[in-house]
Amino acid sequence: MITVTGASGQLGRLVLAELLARLPADQITAMVRDPAKLSDLAGTGLRIVQGDYNAPETLAPALAGTDRLLIISGNEFGRRVEQYQALVAAARAADVGYIAYTSILRASENPMYLAQDHRAAEGLIAATGLPHAFLRNGWYSENYAGSIAQGAGTGGFIGASGAGRIAGAARADYAAAAAKVIAEGLTGTYELGGPAYTMEDLAATIGAVAGRAVSYQNLTPEEFTAALIGVGLPEGFAQVLGDSDRFAAEGWLDTGSTQLAELIGRPVTPLAEVVKAVLG
Ligand code: NDP
Repeated sequence: MITVTGASGQLGRLVLAELLARLPADQITAMVRDPAKLSDLAGTGLRIVQGDYNAPETLAPALAGTDRLLIISGNEFGRRVEQYQALVAAARAADVGYIAYTSILRASENPMYLAQDHRAAEGLIAATGLPHAFLRNGWYSENYAGSIAQGAGTGGFIGASGAGRIAGAARADYAAAAAKVIAEGLTGTYELGGPAYTMEDLAATIGAVAGRAVSYQNLTPEEFTAALIGVGLPEGFAQVLGDSDRFAAEGWLDTGSTQLAELIGRPVTPLAEVVKAVLG
């Protein structure tokens, strides 16, 4: 049995779809904190179980019978390490035999704020001694959905990653890689990303798709953070994005690795396709 956490999320749903195309549904369990969110998949035959990272007592029962576990990283900053501790303890209690985890590029040394929890998670999983895989995902190109809409709508967008190269890929690409790794029980550390682009490249791509001139305005991380707060983002999240761009400018979201295309057996989705999908 393969169990996927975060299964009602955007990445999780894509992983489930990939797994359903590869395996009999009765070999797949989706763990979600609210099973109603996957009611549309009830007819597929996959197993849906309730488990909340913040309610440790729910986790070992949810993982009962699991041979291989895919932990999709959580999104509650400040709580994630305790959540991973609970998940890993539950995996041990449930006698899980293998763990895959969605991490971040070069997690061992990546200075981004976001990387701290991923580093901790990798450490917890490695310490189990179980066979494991670290899916060190680069940026989802869909992270730029707001910039893409802004650029297409107004002719410009902002950021603070300078000329930093972003080895982004579509969520669907990372999902396909995760499904292959968990379905086949592959082990190891995978640095996953697509052909790198800069924000100037993104501006040119948006311009080509939208049929207008689009420019990128680079700000300092502090200015960028303030601008995001100014348009209504919660302060903590704006700071995380500013911090991420600060280190993206230094190349921490780039990778020369071609493991993503190799795992999925096809080229990574071109940036222009992501832009087209975002713009509908
Ligand atoms: P989503 O926010 O769409 O999904 C997050 C999932 O985590 C949801 O299914 C959510 O459940 C689940 N979750 C959150 N808290 C808990 C909890 N306490 N107990 C159980 N489940 C919980 O994110 P994505 O699918 O887009 O991305 C997956 C993960 O990848 C993110 O959580 C984040 O760690 C990371 N990420 C990586 C990015 C990158 O560029 N590489 C960009 C953005 C995120 P529910 O449906 O109930 O809310």
